[in-house]
Amino acid sequence: MARRKKIYEGKAKILYEGPEPGTIVQYFKDDATAFNAEKKDVIDGKGVLNNRLSEFFMNGLTQIGVPTHFIRRLNMREQLVRSCEIVPLEVIVRNYAAGSMSKRLGIAEGTQLPRPIVEYCYKDDALGDPLVTEEHIAAFGWASQQDMDDILSLALRVNDFMSGVMLAVGIRLVDFKIEIGRVYDGDYQRLIIADEISPDSCRLWDIETGQKLDKDVFRRDLGNLTDAYSEVARRLGVLPKSNVSKPTLIN
Ligand code: C5P
Repeated sequence: MARRKKIYEGKAKILYEGPEPGTIVQYFKDDATAFNAEKKDVIDGKGVLNNRLSEFFMNGLTQIGVPTHFIRRLNMREQLVRSCEIVPLEVIVRNYAAGSMSKRLGIAEGTQLPRPIVEYCYKDDALGDPLVTEEHIAAFGWASQQDMDDILSLALRVNDFMSGVMLAVGIRLVDFKIEIGRVYDGDYQRLIIADEISPDSCRLWDIETGQKLDKDVFRRDLGNLTDAYSEVARRLGVLPKSNVSKPTLIN
């Protein structure tokens, strides 16, 4: 059988050419990186969990009418997605202060924000994904004003959906990052949610105990990352029932 063509390898995923034109296979690796890849490790089973969790969130978004690149999960580590042009922005939505915002503005982690705050970072690893304003985005042509209106609306809809889903299982959605893809339907272009939504790209805290159930467990050496992600998956009913107590994380 011919080897499939690798399109791109990132820190946590590999993209391969999909079986039909306009599709891509997204493979979830077990690699974990933080601080712009200064800290690295391989965490057994992380890719399997993120594949399942991202499928769960993307399917939920589709059901409420938020367009995403997700088509279907193929196997334990791979999903078929629609090919799109990635807008070179990381879109961050924050409900509580944490991470870089707490550091930048001196606001204690966990402080509830008066309303969700949306931030944009320019996607460039060499520059460490710097925070940018809408002025930069317009001046450098990374997105149009219409795109920015659509991105804001998508980001807030994802926030409402994700906050509700997590709240229902006793988890606070502190913040998250999404990426946006551009697709063309005939002469029209549309923006859709791309990449992944998983505990790698969200901050998730247990409402009762404040326990961190996201990538900060790895960033800050707080314990076992797959245990934290498995807990999120278990509460959401994402892991198969037979695996609830001890998930089998194989390829
Ligand atoms: O580090 P910072 O506080 O800016 O991160 C905000 C949110 O965006 C966190 O949930 C973090 O996991 C996510 N993020 C990400 N990828 C990045 C930067 C941030 O998923 N490159």
